[in-house]
Amino acid sequence: MLGMSDVPILMKSSVKKEVRTRIAPSPTGFFHVGTARTALFNYLYAKRYGGEFILRIEDTDKERSKPEYEEDIIRSLEWLGLEWDSDQHEGHEQNTNNANISRFYRQSERTEIYKKYLEKLLNEGKAYYCCCAKEELEAQRISQETNGHIFKYSGKCRQDADIRGLQRRSTQNLVIRFKVPEKKVLFHDEIRGKVEFDSELFGDIVIAKSLDEPLYNFTVVVDDEEMEITHVIRGEDHLGNTPKQILLQAALGFREPHYAHLPLILAPDRSKLSKRAEEIDATIKSLRERGYLPEAVVNFLALLGWSPGDNREIFSLEELEKFFDLKKIQKGGAIFNIQKLDWFGAHYIQKLKFEELKEKMWEFIPDIWKKNPEVLDRAIGLEQERMKTLRDFEEAAGFFFELPEYPAERLVWKNSDMETARKRLEHVLDIMEESLGDGLETRVMEYAEKEGRGDVLWPLRVALSGLEKSPGPFQIIKVIGREEGIQRIKHALNKISPPEADQP
Ligand code: GLU
Repeated sequence: MLGMSDVPILMKSSVKKEVRTRIAPSPTGFFHVGTARTALFNYLYAKRYGGEFILRIEDTDKERSKPEYEEDIIRSLEWLGLEWDSDQHEGHEQNTNNANISRFYRQSERTEIYKKYLEKLLNEGKAYYCCCAKEELEAQRISQETNGHIFKYSGKCRQDADIRGLQRRSTQNLVIRFKVPEKKVLFHDEIRGKVEFDSELFGDIVIAKSLDEPLYNFTVVVDDEEMEITHVIRGEDHLGNTPKQILLQAALGFREPHYAHLPLILAPDRSKLSKRAEEIDATIKSLRERGYLPEAVVNFLALLGWSPGDNREIFSLEELEKFFDLKKIQKGGAIFNIQKLDWFGAHYIQKLKFEELKEKMWEFIPDIWKKNPEVLDRAIGLEQERMKTLRDFEEAAGFFFELPEYPAERLVWKNSDMETARKRLEHVLDIMEESLGDGLETRVMEYAEKEGRGDVLWPLRVALSGLEKSPGPFQIIKVIGREEGIQRIKHALNKISPPEADQP
């Protein structure tokens, strides 16, 4: 069998692409980093081999699917730069009014197609209506699980399907079950190698709640065939679905695509990330709102389970398209390490030119700061080297624009005292009032060497920032300007010894 990694590079002009991958998210929650990583790997694989990458919204769960989650999927893929291909296939509805959004598939618009295949299976006696009551099935489940078994349908309705079969359609509570042939299902997974399942373990599965309500395993099989998907690359949590889908493909006379199941993404304590999603908030929406650059997120996601085989870590999307290889995907879980994301975040922010950075962070800058454009530009220039996200600036730079309230005690260096702080600040104020230009730093430093660096520079820095931690005093002066610096030192001196109130 042709391994996925052996697929030859195809001519872009070939009509039917030999590599067609897909991302098939369900719009039942905000786009998760796990789904984003799956999308990225599918995208990269398609690009690597000159193929196509398809978007299919799996919205068969009517209760849980919401338009805002579909919008979030689209926005997240666009933000990450994972452009999907606008499919030319017949039956591909124009499902958006926005001409800028490429066409994609939506399962809820394909009911008639699924129905046709459901009827085929029923007519051929490969599927049957099951009328077992929910309570009855629940009782069987409990009894089997209490005895340490995984639930498997007893097959009660299969036995008399021939007698009742299609005539029982009008009865309520009928579901459609697939007659799962009892056999060992073997398939080759590009990451895990040979995988074997015994279909006896899962029994006859429900593939539709009715002719108009097909379920996941069935719709995926029909769509992967109709959309000519050649490579199914998805999370390891779907591994158990694969043998069911392979048996359905065989029953319908479909091709079997190549499979690759990606390792799970784990929280730092190795618990399943999806279970901790709220705590860690591992959605693309949240990363975007926290101000990470998409380039950083893409690079971070690429290394969640994949490595190039050497120590290289920095990859743009275009570079990944050249290097990505399924053979280099690990089997074990990949840890979602936010410090690593911060590291990528800092790297990509540092690489930006000033104007680019300013434009990208504009929406994260409070409007009031924009009224002071010179200070703003200088503050951005200074803070860039410290930023991991576009939002860090808002948290770090407030004191440049407005001095925060702070207690007088903060002006005192370690074991020193308030009187010393006052004297040192008074002297620095004199220097500042006299010096124009570059001489300031030299003169203050000479004074600091004489009196002790801490005793001079600490109160000065606190006077200028109001903070326990901040950039150095001369950097701050460069941003806020000498005049504002002088005002802030005076304000500090007033805190130490407030001017006497006017006598009446
Ligand atoms: N809709 C499934 C999900 O969101 C993906 C199905 C698949 O990739 O086969 O997990």
